[in-house]
Amino acid sequence: IMSCVHTSITGRAIDNELLAVDPINIRDFALDAYGKVDDSLYGGGHGMLMMCQPIYDAWHAAQKKASKEPALRTIYMSPKGRVLTQQKVIELSTYKHIILLCGHYEGVDQRVVDEIVDEEISIGDYVLTGGELPACILIDAVARMLRGVLPHPEAIDDESHMHGLLESAHYTRPDVWHGRRV
Ligand code: SAM
Repeated sequence: IMSCVHTSITGRAIDNELLAVDPINIRDFALDAYGKVDDSLYGGGHGMLMMCQPIYDAWHAAQKKASKEPALRTIYMSPKGRVLTQQKVIELSTYKHIILLCGHYEGVDQRVVDEIVDEEISIGDYVLTGGELPACILIDAVARMLRGVLPHPEAIDDESHMHGLLESAHYTRPDVWHGRRV
């Protein structure tokens, strides 16, 4: 996650303290010496599932770290969630703290989702191996909406998806390229 967000515009936003991203390794909250955070599926089936306890304890620690108040939003990045839209991005940019839960393997035990998660968000109707890339996408999209992150915030309003429309085409020099005129 850090190699993703520490580049370019989001990297500068972090350096300028407009945005903070604090990855938490769920394995650090495992109870055994091996760092076990997953187990086999109840009722059989292929693959492993992330267990409730390490996720719950990591979430608790994240809340405490964020502030004395409870974190304002906990989101599980999930292919079963609602697909992320620009309107949702704008809404999320108003929260002070967001905890993003990234699943792996077959996903996460539903009981901890029911216990801590406010909403599930998908980045599209396809399945990735883990929630980190989806989390990076959400962080990038939300960061752009934060005051001071983009050099020309007035331009945001015209951008695609801001008002249910797409932005018009743009051109730069030269006037004619491969026979195509501006
Ligand atoms: N068994 C799950 C299912 O069929 O819905 C898929 C689990 S996926 C292999 C492992 C993790 O990757 C998920 O828990 C989630 O955190 C993340 N993930 C995969 N695809 C995603 C998507 N389209 N949007 C958001 N998160 C996704």
